[in-house]
Formats: sequence, C-alpha cells, structure tokens
Amino acid sequence: MSGSAQGSSRPVALISGGSRGIGRAVALRLAEDGHDISFCFRGDEQAAANLEKELAERGARALARRVDVTDAAAVRDWVDVTERDFGPIAVAVTSAGITRDKPLLMMSDSDWHDVVDTNLDGVYHVCRSVVFPMMKRRGGSIVTVASVSGLYGNAGQTNYAASKAGIIALSRSLAKEVGRRGIRVNAVAPGLIDTDMSAVLDDQVKEQVTERTALGRTGLAAEVAEVVAFLASARASYVTGAVLPVDGGL
Ligand code: NDP
Repeated sequence: MSGSAQGSSRPVALISGGSRGIGRAVALRLAEDGHDISFCFRGDEQAAANLEKELAERGARALARRVDVTDAAAVRDWVDVTERDFGPIAVAVTSAGITRDKPLLMMSDSDWHDVVDTNLDGVYHVCRSVVFPMMKRRGGSIVTVASVSGLYGNAGQTNYAASKAGIIALSRSLAKEVGRRGIRVNAVAPGLIDTDMSAVLDDQVKEQVTERTALGRTGLAAEVAEVVAFLASARASYVTGAVLPVDGGL
C-alpha cells in the first residue's frame, strides 16, 4: 500500500502500529489536527486499508506500510519513504505493541523475546530512524506509548512490564539528549483501554482493574489519543521527558 504524491504542506505524523487500537485512534486524531499520516502495521491488511480510507475521508494523505518494527532496516526504509513521499516528519508516535502474558515460571524464551523485541526494540528502531532528520531540522516531537505496567509492575506481565519500563527510561533519556535540538520526547502510560489487546482478558480481570480506578471504568483509545495529540503538539511546548498516566486514576 502506498500514499499519494508529494505537494501537501500539512505536517507529517509517523505512527507505528497505527492500523488498530490506540495507534488507529491517534492517527484519526492527528489527522483531525491537520497532519498527513504515515503508519505501519504488521499483518492486518484489511484494518490498514480501512484506516487509509477513513484518513482520506478526513482530508489527510495516508501512507500505510507493512513493517515489522523488530526489523531495523525495514523501519529505516519506512521512515525514508515517508520523508521522500510526504515530507519532513514532525511527529512520531510509537504504538506497536504485543502481550504474551504468563507467570515468569511458565514463560518461554520466545514469549520473553517476542515482547521485548517488539515493544522495546521496536521503539528504539523508530526513534533511531527519526531522530537524526529531526535533529538536522532542529525540531520534532516523539510520543511513546508505554503502560502503567511499566510504572508499577503487573503479575503475569514480567516481559511486558520490563519492555514498558524500558520505553519509559528510553523516552526520559532521549528527551535529555535531544532537548537542546528542539526535539521533545514524552510517554503516555495507559491503564486498561478497550482495544483488541485487552479484549482477550477475562471479565474478572477487567473488573478487578476497573474496581481499582478512581473513575470506575476502562478507557477508550480515543481518550489516550487525545493526550498523545496534546503531547505531540505545540500546546505542550514546555513538556518533555514526561510520563503521563492515562489510566482513569488507577
Ligand atoms: P492492538 O492489539 O489493538 O493494536 C496493536 C497494533 O500494533 C496493530 O496495529 C498491530 O498491527 C501493530 N503491531 C503489533 N506488532 C507489530 C510489529 N511487530 N510491527 C508493526 N506493528 C505491529 O493494541 P493496542 O492498541 O491496545 O495497544 C497499542 C499500544 O498501547 C501497545 O504498545 C500497548 O502495549 C499499549 N497499551 C495498551 C493498553 C490496553 O489496555 N489496550 C494499555 C497500556 C498500553 P497488526 O494488526 O497488523 O498486527
């Protein structure tokens, strides 16, 4: 899949894992804010095609690319193609992520590595690819999607929580490295959000989590997207290295 030709003066946002869930909501929200959107996905062509259509209906150019974020060269290529076809990337959002929940004692090496490779290495690959052109232009905004699991830990999620804590540390450290080049790096830490990822959880587990939130409910992808759009925008021009929970008061 590919986008249309050059020529728009809209700012460009690049979103990993943009085809479904939180990434999709971010794509739609940033399109509303006037961005053209380049997003990647791993396998679900239909979801990607649906989003391309919805973005076009909102007047945004859309570039959908099948890229596994664990593949550094493929991510680099996606970033290059985006800048070539759409122009400079102003905003990068890393939303691609997976779970393989299990107690540590039951965890296979592949459960561990699949999650860390996708969630943490994937963020590294995107940041590594977008930061250099952003530094050259002395401007840009990166928002990573972490999780409350990365802040507090969560039984059954040692792999996932470790990857998300890594994302938080990466984001805070990168913010310190590139702030003087006009680049801001922030993270959101969502709680339980209604997406395909959380749909596989037992109702009992969901109830236990919602009971522990001040608002007494799960969140919507659009509610996370709203915070991502704020952090990505100039409205957050003095915010960097922040980790913003979007968790209903967990
Ligand atoms: P979904 O499962 O709904 O969507 C995941 C998205 O990531 C899809 O677009 C998927 O593409 C893409 N993706 C997965 N693996 C890869 C990969 N290797 N390379 C490229 N794209 C990939 O998840 P959510 O929207 O719920 O989650 C988004 C982010 O938010 C994740 O990082 C997750 O950890 C985080 N989060 C989610 C919470 C929740 O409760 N839902 C809570 C806290 C954090 P495809 O469909 O093609 O596989």
